[in-house]
Amino acid sequence: STDDRISRISSSIRVIADFPKPGILFQDITTLLLDPKAFKDTIDLFVERYKEQNINVVAGIEARGFIFGAPIALAIGAKFVPLRKPKKLPGEVISEEYSLEYGTDIMEMHVGAVQAGERALVVDDLIATGGTLSAAIRLLERVGVDVVECACVIELPELKGRNLLGDKPLFVLVS
Ligand code: AMP
Repeated sequence: STDDRISRISSSIRVIADFPKPGILFQDITTLLLDPKAFKDTIDLFVERYKEQNINVVAGIEARGFIFGAPIALAIGAKFVPLRKPKKLPGEVISEEYSLEYGTDIMEMHVGAVQAGERALVVDDLIATGGTLSAAIRLLERVGVDVVECACVIELPELKGRNLLGDKPLFVLVS
């Protein structure tokens, strides 16, 4: 059942305290990837939700969003677009700045990877404050893409990252 699949996924995620710095409870999805059934169930649950939604773009956020985004894109027949850290993409890029706890970061996408009017799903492993996903939404919307939904394996609900996404739907497997 769906509940059995969710519990297997949830138990396969390792939590490491004080990484990368004191006070952070790091949700480590590399242990989920070591369990082929949990990994397959993760992808299947997303594919079941998105296969009939006419999504033509899956935008994956570097780096863990690539791991989940690429197999979803293949399974639903969408193109995969990497949203990358600065200075990684070789072609012409469009950039979006966003705030971190200390300072700012930049997310980049290749110009021409997506077209105005296309329907996109944004994928990452986890939503904390929502800053990363909201930057991805802004980047795609600036070029006229319709962001249908954001999908993450894990949500940290106490950080209220959903609020930063405005009215954009967020689908998560584990809270
Ligand atoms: P945020 O922009 O605050 O929503 O942070 C989300 C991004 O930071 C995602 O790309 C996550 O991979 C990473 N991240 C933030 N907090 C954690 C955490 N507690 N465990 C693992 N990854 C995290």
